[in-house]
This record gives sequence, C-alpha cells and structure tokens, in this order.
Amino acid sequence: MTALTLTNVNKSFGEVHVLKDINIEVEEGEFVVFVGPSGCGKSTLLRVIAGLEDATSGEVHIGGDLVNNTPPSKRGIAMVFQSYALYPHLNVFKNMSLALKQEKQSKAVINERVAKASKMLNLEDYLERYPSELSGGQRQRVAIGRAIVREPKLFLFDEPLSNLDAALRMNTRLEIANLHDTLAASMIYVTHDQTEAMTLADKIVVLRDGRVEQIGSPMELYNNPVNQFVAGFLGSPA
Ligand code: ADP
Ligand code: MG
Repeated sequence: MTALTLTNVNKSFGEVHVLKDINIEVEEGEFVVFVGPSGCGKSTLLRVIAGLEDATSGEVHIGGDLVNNTPPSKRGIAMVFQSYALYPHLNVFKNMSLALKQEKQSKAVINERVAKASKMLNLEDYLERYPSELSGGQRQRVAIGRAIVREPKLFLFDEPLSNLDAALRMNTRLEIANLHDTLAASMIYVTHDQTEAMTLADKIVVLRDGRVEQIGSPMELYNNPVNQFVAGFLGSPA
C-alpha cells in the first residue's frame, strides 16, 4: 500500500492555476522531498494533501483511502509549519498536547505520548516553559513534537528549517533524519534548499511552476536530470 497517491491533482485560486496535473506516489516509510523555487506551489500542494485546501480536481489517497472529502483531523497526517505556529499563551506541554485533548485522548495517553516525544526531542526540561522563553531551535522542536504525539502515518514538513540559522539548520536536519529512522513513518518535506533535498530524500520531486518536472532518487536526478532546470537546481553540471 502507498502512503500517499496524488492522481491528476489540480488547484486553482480563481483564475490562477497553481497546481497542474500533479501525479506523485509516496511509499510507506519513504522520505520524499518536494523541491522547487519560491512560488512554484509547494505549500499549496502540502495544504491540499493535508486538507487545508480542496483540490479543484483530481484524487488524493492517503493509506489507500480517498480523502478528498475527509477533514484534516481525520486524514492521519500531521503538519509542521515554517512559522512554528505555537500558541504563545500555552506552555510547551500544553502546546504539544492540545491536539490530543481535542481528540479526547485520556490523560494517561497524553502524558505518555508527550513524555516520549519530548525525550526524543530533548525537550524534557522545557515542558513548563512558554514559547517566548525558548530559542528558535527549541520552538521548532516543539512544533515537531506536536506532530509526533499524534502518531500520524504521514508527516508533512513545510520548510521547517528556513527560520533557523545555519548551524541550527544542520542540527535540526539531522534530528529530522533520525526521527524518520526511529518512527518509521512516511514523511514529505518541502524545501527550496538543494542541500536539504539531496541529504534527506529517498526520493525527490522537483516542482516548477505548479508542475512536476522530475521524480527520482537524489543520485538519479543528479546523474540524469531531464533538463537544465533540474540540473541547475540540484547543482550538477549537465
Ligand atoms: P511555494 O510554497 O512553492 O513558495 P505557494 O504554494 O505558497 O508556493 O504559492 C504558489 C502560488 O499560488 C503563488 O503564486 C501564490 O501567490 C498562489 N497562492 C497560494 N495561496 C493562494 C491563495 N490562498 N489565494 C490565491 N493565490 C494563492
Ligand atoms: Mg511555501
């Protein structure tokens, strides 16, 4: 079974045709990176997968189920945003547990999952703190923790490192790679950064102007880019 199948997905905002006949498959446990320049439709594509936007046409299957009419909270996904999107008035524990509370999980389950996730992310000593009392890297780890506690089948990351400085970016990138190994979940990771794409991905989807330009492993794309755009983007001389 595939974790995600997009079939001829299109998305328009009024007259503006943003996503054009997108066909992508993500296998279970795969780490797939969507890469492409700013404005090419990466965030819109993630939002369509998450159910935060409806596809104008085409089908979205998650774990074998057609989810076009399924609300975000029922899709078995969790999304991590670039802006962290933490609640400033809630401490780390409450930020991480909010979605579980909304799912009406028991206190025992909530405590266990937050403990597990905060251990994974080295946040155990910060559970009482508020977002304003955390560094950028810690905030982003809380945002990742908030996704982990929901135990999703599919994680969606939208440029999670772009607000971090270079050293933290590298660390957090390694942490995300470790999480992928530990959790054995499927992950889709959006970036406009070639290095992130090349180092994290099992498979890269290169997007350009709302279309899929090429799909392949980092080495396939590096060695056999279909055109100058892909070559230029991934830094090979072809
Ligand atoms: P990326 O994440 O690759 O930078 P986006 O998905 O954010 O690109 O945007 C792709 C295009 O869709 C842009 O031209 C953007 O202006 C347009 N777009 C995104 N969201 C909306 C919206 N809600 N209404 C109108 N246009 C939008
Ligand atoms: Mg974006």
